[in-house]
Amino acid sequence: MKIKPFNPPVRTLMGPGPSDVHPRVLTAMARPTIGHLDPAFIVMMDEIKQMLQYAFQTKNALTIPVSAPGSAGMETCFVNLVEPGEKVIVCANGVFGGRMKENVERAGGVAVMVEDAWGTPVDPNKLEDALKNNKDAKLVAFVHAETSTGVQSDAKKLTEIAHRHGCLVIVDAVTSLGGIALKVDEWEIDAIYSGSQKCLSCTPGLSPISVSERAIEKIKNRKTKVQSWFLDLNLVMGYWGTGKRAYHHTAPINPLYGLHEALAMLQEEGLEKSWARHQHHYVALRSGLEAMGLSLLVKESARLPQLNAVMVPPGVDDAKLRSRLLEEYNLEIGAGLGALAGKIIRIGLMGYGANMKNVMYCLEAIEAVLSDMRAPIQTGVAMNAAQSAAVLN
Ligand SMILES: *Cc1c(COP(=O)(O)O)cnc(C)c1O
Repeated sequence: MKIKPFNPPVRTLMGPGPSDVHPRVLTAMARPTIGHLDPAFIVMMDEIKQMLQYAFQTKNALTIPVSAPGSAGMETCFVNLVEPGEKVIVCANGVFGGRMKENVERAGGVAVMVEDAWGTPVDPNKLEDALKNNKDAKLVAFVHAETSTGVQSDAKKLTEIAHRHGCLVIVDAVTSLGGIALKVDEWEIDAIYSGSQKCLSCTPGLSPISVSERAIEKIKNRKTKVQSWFLDLNLVMGYWGTGKRAYHHTAPINPLYGLHEALAMLQEEGLEKSWARHQHHYVALRSGLEAMGLSLLVKESARLPQLNAVMVPPGVDDAKLRSRLLEEYNLEIGAGLGALAGKIIRIGLMGYGANMKNVMYCLEAIEAVLSDMRAPIQTGVAMNAAQSAAVLN
């Protein structure tokens, strides 16, 4: 069989990631590949570091993209900061908190879980209690923006509590970076990781991280080697650090051009404006969905603008709804996970995708398909509601 070149369909990506990639980013990625130690490439690497510091609002020198997806950023933080036998308090209120536990245990640590119901934020009081009951804990880990449920937790407050009890924090900001307020230095976050394909609107496969001096101190004082050679920050910094660069692994050259372009776009727009744009389009989308008679899973004060968990109306098969949206409208939205499978759909408004065209298109497509599926919704009002909300806010 002769295999033809792969031409992907043109979709609108409004799921939990990847999000729509801006044409400027795709164009940047098609530029000529150069060597990973080429002086011109090293200049670009330094610019990426600078722009990541801006995105994370930090002066941390160790602010770099790990050469692999968000999960590798997660793993980088855990394998470097957790030493065998150490106790780590892990706050879990969705899928990604559960993965943190896996990471702690695989790094030889002992995970103490602080569980909150899916769809609710991490309860600071429960963290406080766990720290009081585990005075030997060294680290606290939590997810800022839980993509599996559309919930944001109070990263500033959780970090304060952890520090009061002498712990360092690891924060998952895969979905929050660029989408909602995040201030690494002001909030004194010790180690944080993100992903390129959510609110940065780059292609998947890179994981920006930032590590504070306090955390580096802990890594330097380890009694045991970091068990991952590839993710050992002591080694990675030989390539990404300052001064003479040495080969560690071949950096993903062209994806890094893409990240550079995505970060340049974030700078052009301004970080606060990007946060406000996500909020603005969430309000429009929510107004449209509510006018249609649909409701959201998460209480207003804890909702993520960039990831909306919408209750599936009674009698509707969510898999059928999603596959019709994909087939008939080229529109991708996300499914519910775990206990929320079949109960919610997840609509992302991430990065470049947080725009009025996507909001209107999504409302129109969902209304058309749900109405065809005989779901109990109001028709003919959603677009107007979204439009009015967008004008007002
Ligand atoms: C997407 C996501 C990850 C994992 O990122 P990958 O790039 O898929 O490896 C981790 N945490 C959260 C909160 C996410 O949304």
